[in-house]
Amino acid sequence: MLSTMQDGQLSLGRLLRHGTTVHSESEVITWTGSEARRETYGELGKHAAKLANALRSLGITGDQRVGTFMWNNAEHMAAYLAIPAMGAVLHTLNIRLFPEQLVFVANHAEDQVVIVDGTLVPLLAKQLPELKTVRHVIVANGDASTLPAPDGVQVHSYDELLAGQPDTFDWPEVDERSAAAMCYTSGTTGDPKGVAYSHRSIWLHSMQVTMTDSMRLAQHDKALAIVPMFHAMAWGMPYAALMVGASLLMPDRFLQPAPIAQMLDAEKPTFAGAVPTIWQGLLSHLDANPQDISHLREVVVGGSAAPPSLMHAFEDRYNVPILHAWGMTETSPLGSVARPPVSATGEKAWDYRYTQGRFPASVSARLIGDNGEELPWDNESVGELEVQGPWIAASYYGGKAGDEPDPEKFHDGWLRTGDVGKISPDGYLTLTDRAKDVIKSGGEWISSVDLENQVMAHPAVAEAAVVGIPDEKWDERPLVAVVLKEGQSVTAEELREFLSDKVAKWQLPENWTFVDEVPKTSVGKFDKKRLRAFHSEGKLDVSQL
Ligand code: AMP
Repeated sequence: MLSTMQDGQLSLGRLLRHGTTVHSESEVITWTGSEARRETYGELGKHAAKLANALRSLGITGDQRVGTFMWNNAEHMAAYLAIPAMGAVLHTLNIRLFPEQLVFVANHAEDQVVIVDGTLVPLLAKQLPELKTVRHVIVANGDASTLPAPDGVQVHSYDELLAGQPDTFDWPEVDERSAAAMCYTSGTTGDPKGVAYSHRSIWLHSMQVTMTDSMRLAQHDKALAIVPMFHAMAWGMPYAALMVGASLLMPDRFLQPAPIAQMLDAEKPTFAGAVPTIWQGLLSHLDANPQDISHLREVVVGGSAAPPSLMHAFEDRYNVPILHAWGMTETSPLGSVARPPVSATGEKAWDYRYTQGRFPASVSARLIGDNGEELPWDNESVGELEVQGPWIAASYYGGKAGDEPDPEKFHDGWLRTGDVGKISPDGYLTLTDRAKDVIKSGGEWISSVDLENQVMAHPAVAEAAVVGIPDEKWDERPLVAVVLKEGQSVTAEELREFLSDKVAKWQLPENWTFVDEVPKTSVGKFDKKRLRAFHSEGKLDVSQL
């Protein structure tokens, strides 16, 4: 073999050193409800060093796991840096998991220490006695004395613990292929599954987030990370920001439309990321309380399909383009981004932007048919999407047989996404459903996502979720759950009429229900499993046309 280049490790210690020195003036800005507290990346470097020293003093060594049970804020950012850079593994705990799931994931990952935000202490306190491996809890942004310590657990005040610590740390050389961070999937069936990101996968993924044809995060940005830091690493924004010196705006616990609007006004971020339901809520708020948000050069929407009506509302009424992206906890999460080809303009460009997008060079994709055959990229053949690449999980952490890939999710070195869709000859992915949400009516597939998008295009509709319900004649038929905008009204008949020239006649839903709210998962997506359960338990008032 010819001798080639040096072999520097793509480690988060290296990223920390770079970001906190070269970009020392950039800031992590935490919203406090009425104003912001600011920390430069230079200060963040010292903050992270103090935290790493504190964790060492509590006995954290090797690749032990340190959990965070936190909002998006500067302390969480320090944990994002300190824990992996010292060689330990950051485990971001989802604060909205059901109690038994929280106990499961903390025990499964064997978390030794948990850092918790003061306002979340009551949520953690109930389950803490069941977290078998946790020896220390550190309370940030709040009063540690409010947390009763179970036997064998010591509770510390974050500020007091860090106060006496040196603000430098001898960040070790870490093997780039070792684990840096873990996230458990928010799956609605079975136990959550752990995904362990390596230093290398995070580094490569961060580079992708900053690329021009991707999310374009850059030095001049102030990026608002609404997507929680426990949801697929806040879609890569924190590490990518440090890489290029973009400032970060962290909303802490202020995630309702009105506080978000207030924060936008005060801080004028240039970029933001969140699931569609957040944008839908903000849109209703803005429509009632107009405000200029054109400082947002772009916002990225993913986690669920971005409804075209939402994309148009933001662009046409607020001058803010929505960038649609697809990803999963298992894919770090950036899997595809919907930037149209340069040749597409006008309506054609919009058609590309509605799709889930194109895969970057590092992500390979294929579609697999019902009989295991690979399907062509002809924008017609529909199958399950499988992906492969250096920031795609190779297995779940401690899965069914040790770290052997679970055959239901991994297949010849490919990740089975459970997402169903088609790919165009020029590589644009269009998802029609989650495999477990597909509706099969009289032997034909009906796309729930497509129906939802069409219903949400009605001006009186705030949200619409579609699930399949059993039907004697057709096996399954779609049921549409509609949330109306405040002060608006429309009947099921009118909505069906509205759809009549937009979808095939046999797909027109006859089952409609009006609800105050669509049930949501822990990361804010439509929870179709619960919606189906509400229906089978007779809890929905369904009108049949
Ligand atoms: P999670 O790991 O919780 O982020 O969930 C990942 C799943 O969210 C994917 O497998 C998709 O089913 C769904 N998802 C993410 N982004 C999109 C998108 N842009 N359009 C449709 N579904 C999406």
